[in-house]
Amino acid sequence: MNDMLQKTANALRARGYEVTIWDNAAAARDFIANDIPAGQDVGIGGCETAYQMGIADALRQSGHAVHWHRGVPASEAGAVRRAAMLSPNYLCSANAVTEDGLIVQIDGTGNRVGAMCYGPSTVYIVVGRNKIVSGGYQDAVRRIKKIACPQNARRLGLQTPCATGECQVSACQHPMCNIFVTLEHAPNAKTTKIVLIDEDLGY
Ligand code: SF4
Repeated sequence: MNDMLQKTANALRARGYEVTIWDNAAAARDFIANDIPAGQDVGIGGCETAYQMGIADALRQSGHAVHWHRGVPASEAGAVRRAAMLSPNYLCSANAVTEDGLIVQIDGTGNRVGAMCYGPSTVYIVVGRNKIVSGGYQDAVRRIKKIACPQNARRLGLQTPCATGECQVSACQHPMCNIFVTLEHAPNAKTTKIVLIDEDLGY
């Protein structure tokens, strides 16, 4: 068992989350597909991890309606994001998780952090081992600015300063990090399931 994942899982459980650890993405994908009650809709946030896992196809094959704006024309994406927010289940990744159990997220639009905090009654946060940092909140922010944002900017073709160099907030025309949200503890009145995976996934 990966000691870092086990330590992080224990810290997250102490903060009110349901946590599972999986050896690989395929096992985690099967767990999620079987865990969501039959026939229930699933919303997915902007999430490279979900794409790499093939989770949307697995859920559709299991009979779930999936609301995911990835690949949807811009004119329709807003409606899809709202449908995702109104689904009983939501799936996204984390930008960084600290070994002591903080989940640190950035968001440009706010749909993902909104759904994590409120809305869907069950939220799955899927976390590859590469998202875990040992240096606390500041290390999480460093990871986001140095690793997550630049790779996402290049994937999306955004001309942000971080795409080719360092973060420069004042010169950033298309920021992905408009919103920073840190979950200190599992939100009330909903179930948040953290799915830790012993593979590198997403950014
Ligand atoms: S503010 Fe802009 S340049 Fe800085 S990390 Fe976010 S997207 Fe990149």
